[in-house]
Amino acid sequence: MAESAAGATPVFPGDRVERHDPRYPTMVRGFNRRFVGHPRYVQVCGDTGQVVRTVQRAVDEGLRLTVRCGGHCYEDFVCDNDGGVIVDMSAMDGVHRDGPDGDYCVEGGATLWNVYTHLYREYGVTLPAGSCYSVGVGGHVTGGGYGLLSRLHGLTVDFLHAVEVVRVDDAGRAEAITVSRDSPDPDERELLWAHLGGGGGNFGVVTRFWFREPPPAPTEAWLLNHAWSWSDLDPDSFAGLVQRYGEFHAANSGVGSPFAGLFGALHLTQNAGASSQVGLTAQYVGDEPSLLDEFAVAMRGDLPAPQVQATPVGHHRAGLRDTEIQRMPWLFATQTLNGSGPNQRGKYKSAYMIEPFPEAQVEAMWEHLAEPLNPNPQALLQVDSYGCQVNAVAPDATAVPQRSSIMKLQYQTYWTDPADDAQNLDWIRGFYDAMYGGRGPYPDGTVDGCYVNYPDVDLDDWQYLYYQDGYPRLREVKARWDPLDVFRHQQSIEPA
Ligand SMILES: Cc1cc2nc3c(=O)[nH]c(=O)nc-3n(C[C@H](O)[C@H](O)[C@H](O)COP(=O)(O)OP(=O)(O)OC[C@H]3O[C@@H](n4cnc5c(N)ncnc54)[C@H](O)[C@@H]3O)c2cc1C
Repeated sequence: MAESAAGATPVFPGDRVERHDPRYPTMVRGFNRRFVGHPRYVQVCGDTGQVVRTVQRAVDEGLRLTVRCGGHCYEDFVCDNDGGVIVDMSAMDGVHRDGPDGDYCVEGGATLWNVYTHLYREYGVTLPAGSCYSVGVGGHVTGGGYGLLSRLHGLTVDFLHAVEVVRVDDAGRAEAITVSRDSPDPDERELLWAHLGGGGGNFGVVTRFWFREPPPAPTEAWLLNHAWSWSDLDPDSFAGLVQRYGEFHAANSGVGSPFAGLFGALHLTQNAGASSQVGLTAQYVGDEPSLLDEFAVAMRGDLPAPQVQATPVGHHRAGLRDTEIQRMPWLFATQTLNGSGPNQRGKYKSAYMIEPFPEAQVEAMWEHLAEPLNPNPQALLQVDSYGCQVNAVAPDATAVPQRSSIMKLQYQTYWTDPADDAQNLDWIRGFYDAMYGGRGPYPDGTVDGCYVNYPDVDLDDWQYLYYQDGYPRLREVKARWDPLDVFRHQQSIEPA
């Protein structure tokens, strides 16, 4: 099914933001303050027809296109478009039930908060997606998407059934097409497959996602927030905490594990002085909340009694202000844990882990966290729970090949002054190299590559680290559906 470029009526006034417009300085920036663009204009789109017309006009005028939904990209794949057109999808934020099969339609400019609140209040269902409410579906879903319910239900894309995408054919003609897992044409099924984790900004502009049979939303959740002071840690007690966390996940991340309803995030912050702490946040949903106590006891080991987390770390808020486990309605828990935080400068790196941490990695963590050269309380390694239902899906069933990991690591550092760029970039690069060497976390049975939704332009072989054996297949899809390479950025799929 295709809709071609026709008509010229804007969907609402003021939809094109040009340089003289007072909104321009705001609308050319990303969530990451390192990224400031100089496009010819930003086009805010209100429906699919307008996206088709916008893409057609840019192609006809020879202007490069980039696409923005929530603006949360970790690298400068959107704003970095001098003299081009940024397609801003944020006015397309509807969420509703749709079609003969009763699938759930989410428009390509929605945020996760739009998704959670509408799906919950109107239908009592949810998606296993990210924790931060201001993240946009446009990047999040196309990159795979995971969050606190992923051990229970899988990745966001495991529920994605169809997409409507505006693409450009080999004659330079923009059209909207709808492709699904059931499309009779195998090329169309391949385009859908590429949207199951192949990454945003690669094949066209996604205007609508349809999700099939999303899980019922939990009624309640139990939350835990513990912290330990850096002054109470030495190399042995630090290593003990990290090893217990890894071993717990190795033992309890199989498909069908009773701990599938539990999701933890260990925040291994830099030691930045007297009030510095490392933190552990966890959520449990399900029928056995005592499993969360069990987890807490297992993590504590020989550490002193946990403290209240005193300060926010990066985009993670200071949680519950209580060390007791809190029980609350699940939607409130989702709100409590959402932590997009303020717009700052930031740099990120990632790694999947199949096994607990090797000793050399724990030593590298201590070296780069315990005594950093330029202490920054907002620099950390976050170790998220993974596995269980995520690993019930075959590596080639979606474009996310990492289906045997038990933990997902996110290296992060945040700052505000451009003068601090170099010291933050040096720290994160040095730490990452110490963990994996220059090649990054090359799949070797212990580590399993990187997450495309945490993109990192420092990676040399990003194609393999993100996509592994799926990359040649993604290149074929690119050649078929975006043959002129209209949609491109620093790490976009190269046409076959
Ligand atoms: C505070 C914060 C918290 C996060 N938490 C999580 C988490 O819990 N789990 C997780 O999995 N990830 C998380 N992420 C990572 C997040 O999933 C990615 O950054 C994601 O790509 C952001 O999507 P966006 O639409 O907000 O970003 P954007 O910057 O708008 O887009 C990101 C990429 O997708 C493309 N794109 C955007 N919209 C479309 C569209 N409609 N069609 C086609 N391409 C499009 C862009 O061109 C760009 O290449 C987090 C990020 C941040 C900043």
